[in-house]
Amino acid sequence: MARDPKYDILFEPVQIGPVTAPNRFYQVPHCNTLGHGRPRAEAANRAAKAEGGWGVICTQEVEIHPSSEATPYLEGRIWDERDIPQHRLMTDAVHEHGALAGIELCYPSLHAPNLYSRVVPMAPSNMVVHGSYPIHARAMNKRDIANMRRWHVEAAKRSREAGYDIVYVYAGHDMSVLQHFFKRQYNKRSDEYGGSLENRVRLCREILIDVKEAVGDTCAVAFRFATDELQGEGGLRWDDEGRDIVGLLAELPDLWDVNISGWDNDSSTARFEPNEGYQEPYTAFVKSLTSKPVVGVGRFTSADTMVSQIRRGVLDLIGAARPSIADPFLPRKIDEGRIEDIRECIGCNVCVAQDMIAAPIRCTQNPTQGEEWKQGWHPEKIEAAASNDSVLVVGAGPAGLECALQLANRGYRVTLAEATQALGGRINSESELPGMSSYARVRDYREYQLSQKANVEIYLDNPLSAEDVLALEIPHVLIATGSHWRRDGTGRWHTSAIAGIDSAEVLTPDDVLGGAEVRGRVLIYDDDHYYMGSTLAERLREQEHDVCLLTPEAKVSIWTENTLEQEKIQARLLGLGVDIVTSHCLLQVDAGEATIASVYSEEIRRVLEFDTLLLVTSREPDDELYQSLLPVQERFETLRALGDCNAPGTVAAAVYDGHSAARYLESEQDEYAPLFVRDMPVID
Ligand code: ADP
Ligand code: SF4
Repeated sequence: MARDPKYDILFEPVQIGPVTAPNRFYQVPHCNTLGHGRPRAEAANRAAKAEGGWGVICTQEVEIHPSSEATPYLEGRIWDERDIPQHRLMTDAVHEHGALAGIELCYPSLHAPNLYSRVVPMAPSNMVVHGSYPIHARAMNKRDIANMRRWHVEAAKRSREAGYDIVYVYAGHDMSVLQHFFKRQYNKRSDEYGGSLENRVRLCREILIDVKEAVGDTCAVAFRFATDELQGEGGLRWDDEGRDIVGLLAELPDLWDVNISGWDNDSSTARFEPNEGYQEPYTAFVKSLTSKPVVGVGRFTSADTMVSQIRRGVLDLIGAARPSIADPFLPRKIDEGRIEDIRECIGCNVCVAQDMIAAPIRCTQNPTQGEEWKQGWHPEKIEAAASNDSVLVVGAGPAGLECALQLANRGYRVTLAEATQALGGRINSESELPGMSSYARVRDYREYQLSQKANVEIYLDNPLSAEDVLALEIPHVLIATGSHWRRDGTGRWHTSAIAGIDSAEVLTPDDVLGGAEVRGRVLIYDDDHYYMGSTLAERLREQEHDVCLLTPEAKVSIWTENTLEQEKIQARLLGLGVDIVTSHCLLQVDAGEATIASVYSEEIRRVLEFDTLLLVTSREPDDELYQSLLPVQERFETLRALGDCNAPGTVAAAVYDGHSAARYLESEQDEYAPLFVRDMPVID
C-alpha cells in the first residue's frame, strides 16, 4: 500500500550541520547492554532499525576514557583506537541501509564508581558518588578540566574515524559530568567553572566548541540536554536555568536532543505517564530559542501524533528509543501505509530492567529484540514452514497468540483454541488494573494480525480436553494454557503453605480480577514483588477498602526498581493511604488475625487484623492438559508446553517462548539449548 500523504512530512530529509538525515525518524541513544562486550550483536541490533527505516541510529552511552567507566553496566567504549573496529561494525551496518550513525560520548562522573578501572572518580566538587557505593569522587582541578576537554576531542576524532556522522556532547539523565557542572547541588566550585550559570556552563561550552573544531566539518555535533529534572526548586527547571542554558548555547550545537532527567522521568512507564508526548511541556520551548533542529522523545508510536509534533513546531525530528525497540520497522510501516501493523511499545520498561541488571536487552512486544545476531532473528521475517503440516495451539494468552501468529507467518495451517470467549489470556484482566491499560496492546496487535491470516482458524469458547486434542489428529500441539496464583502462600519466603491459612478468608489475584467480592479491611501479602501487589492495592483503595500491603522485602514492588518505577509506586501507595509494612513475613494466620514477624528476627512479632487476606505470592502452571497428553506423546510430532503453562513468568517471557516455539518448530532446535552464536574474545 502507498503512504498516506498526510505522513509525507515525516519522510522529509533534515539537514543537521554537515550531514543530512534521510527522514525525521531518529533513534536516540539508548542502552541495550550489548555494547563493547558484544559488538556484533550491537551492530545487528542497530542495523535492524536502520533497515526498518529509522533515518538516524545512535549508540548507547559510550565511555570516552577509563577514568569514568560504567561497570557493571555494559555500554559502549571508545577509550582508544583499538575500539574503532568494533564501532565500524555498527556504522557500516547502519550505513548499508542509508541511515546516519550517531555516537553518544559520555563521561559519567558521579554516576560511575569505576569498579573496573579503580581510578578515583572525578566530579565538579568533592562528593559521594551516586548509588550506595562507599566511594567519593574528588573535585576536578584545572589539569583535569584540560584533560576532560582533550578526552572529548580525542574521542570525537576516533568517532569520526569509526564512521559516525553525528557526535554527541552529553548532559542528561544525571549521568554526565557536564550536567553535574550545571547543577548547583553538585557544583560548589569557586573558580570560573562554578558559581554563576555562565560559569557552570563554561566547560560544556568549551567542549562543544572544541568538538566542533575537531570534527565539525564532517560530523554533526549534537547536544543532549535534560531541560528539567522534575525536582522543583532543587534541580534544573525548564522555566528557569534549563531555559537559560538553552539560550546560552543556542547556536553552538548542530542539533538539540532534549529530554527530561533522570532516566526514570525520561523513560517513564505507561503506568505513570500514560500518554505519548509527555515531555512536551518541558521541551517545547527549545525551538523558540535556537535555529538548529530539535529532536525529542515521548514514547511516540502514533504517526498522527508525530505529524502534530512537527506541524506545531514542537520538534523537527521524532526521537524514539522504546518505540524503536518494540518495532524496529515502525517508519517503514508508516511509509508503506501499514499503520495497523505497527507493534506499539506498551511502556512496561522490561527493556530498561534488562539494562538495570546488566543483561542484554529484551522487549515484551518484540521478542526478536536482542536476538538479531545471537539467534539470527529478524523482526519482520521468519523462515517458511518446513512442511504442510497443521499445528494446534491451545490457549490464546500472550504465548499462544504470538506462537499462532508466527506459525501463520511461516505458512503453517494453524488452529487456535481458547477456552474463554476472548483472546488475550491474562492480558484481559491485568490490563484492567490501574495504570496497566497499555498491556492490551500485546493482545490487540496479535489479534489484529491473526484476523488478517487466511491460514488461521480460531475457536473461542473451546476448552479442550486431552480427548479433544487426540481426536483432532493434528501432528504438532503447542499448549499455552497459562497459570494461576497459589492460594496457600507458597512463594519465595514460604516454600510450603503458610500455617493456619485454611482458617482465613483468602483471595488470590485471580479471584479479585475475576470479580470476587472483597470484604472489609484487606491485608495484601506480596511475596511476588512485581506489579500485581501494588496495582491491586491501588484498585482496592479506589474501592475504599482499608488496605495494608505487607512484604518481606524492604520496599514495595522491589523488582520495579529495575523498571524505574519503585519510588513512584511507593509514593503513590502512600498518597492513597495504603498502610505499608515492609521487611516482615506472614508467619501464621488464625481466622482474621495474621501474625507477622521481622525477616531479621522471628522474635519480633505483631498481629495484624484483616477481613480479607489477598495472597500475591507465586503461580502454578495450568498444565493438566499437557501432563495428560505426555504419556501419549508419541502420537504427536511435537508436543510442547509454552509460556506460563511451562513456567509462570512475565508477559515478555511468554511472548518470547511462543515466538521461539514457532520459529523452531520442525527444526533441529531443541528446547534446552537455543542455537545461538557467541561473540568470543579473540585469543592471540
Ligand atoms: P500465557 O501468559 O502463557 O500466554 P495466559 O494465562 O495469559 O498464559 O493464557 C492462557 C490462556 O489459555 C487463557 O486464555 C486460558 O483461557 C486458555 N486455556 C486454558 N486452558 C485451556 C484449554 N484446556 N483449552 C483452551 N484454552 C485454554
Ligand atoms: Fe516498550 Fe516494554 Fe518493549 Fe521496552 S520492553 S520497548 S517499554 S514494550
